[in-house]
Amino acid sequence: MITRIMSFCEESKQLAKDFIRMGELVAFHTETVYGLGADAFQDDAVLKIFERKGRPADNPLIVHIHGGYDLSRLIDSEPVYAAALREAFLPGPLTMVYPSTGKVSQYVSCGLNTLAVRMPSSETAQKFLKAVDVPIAAPSANLSKHVSPVTAKHVYDDFEGKIPLILDGGACSGGIESTVLDCTGDIPKILREGLITREMIVSVVGCCEVYAMQEGEKPKSPGMAYQHYAPHCKTAYFTEKELRAAKELYNKEKEAEGNPCFLIKTELQDLVDGEKLLLGSTDVEMASRLYSLLRSGEKKYSLLIGVEPEERGGAMTGVLNRMRRAFGSEG
Ligand code: AMP
Ligand code: MG
Repeated sequence: MITRIMSFCEESKQLAKDFIRMGELVAFHTETVYGLGADAFQDDAVLKIFERKGRPADNPLIVHIHGGYDLSRLIDSEPVYAAALREAFLPGPLTMVYPSTGKVSQYVSCGLNTLAVRMPSSETAQKFLKAVDVPIAAPSANLSKHVSPVTAKHVYDDFEGKIPLILDGGACSGGIESTVLDCTGDIPKILREGLITREMIVSVVGCCEVYAMQEGEKPKSPGMAYQHYAPHCKTAYFTEKELRAAKELYNKEKEAEGNPCFLIKTELQDLVDGEKLLLGSTDVEMASRLYSLLRSGEKKYSLLIGVEPEERGGAMTGVLNRMRRAFGSEG
């Protein structure tokens, strides 16, 4: 199969419509990371996502809809705060989990009676979703366990010859996956941290919990139970206070003829000598750069040494969650 990378135009629009109708997969730009999409109504198409990604069969998918899609076809009921959150944050990087009508393929939610729905703000995504006019089930367009893709080339690197079309919308501005919010209870509950933060949700509806898995419990957001985002090279992870140990490891790797590199906040760059990739300064900047740096770093270096920034709050919660998982300090 030839994998074409095309920006959205009349020709790619027609191809995307045909492929989706035929039950094929189409990767597309969003404002968070690239998605690997299939018609959410077709069982075989949805199963293809799991096969081609190597995704565990119990990790449910998010369905993506355009601004004009009738949400009541997909969701059964909703709490009062949900409309206010949609009004405030959609289209945008917020996925909301609702009780499902069960109309999409059973494989989308892996047997759960809930459905995760997202309305991306990316122009390419909106045009694609309008053209096909069906809910598109889509996880991130990376092979399972690899770093999520934030350019069309990243998608191509993982899926060349395995999917027919990538809708190129340029680099993803957000850079980390959407916030996943459980909207099935009286109080909204964050299942996965992202650029729509707890503080932002509280400012609209007055309250918001963050889900923490209890030991032995079946995870409410199954994806969070898996290690994700790992680059293909060796990794190590230190806090800012452990810079000495980080430098020692760097030197050891050098002595062993390796090719190490720090991944570090821009302000700290003068504290380490040698190769470094700069994460940026603010939470939003770090989110937008992290995956690109991991993807370019894994190609060039034998060892990436992550240094955890001390910043907290806002989007840092999501950034730190991704860093810890990428550098293997959290399962
Ligand atoms: P991905 O598309 O790989 O970035 O991951 C989608 C995330 O949404 C995973 O963490 C899933 O576990 C989560 N998710 C999808 N559908 C549901 C659902 N119905 N209930 C809870 N979490 C969900
Ligand atoms: Mg993913």
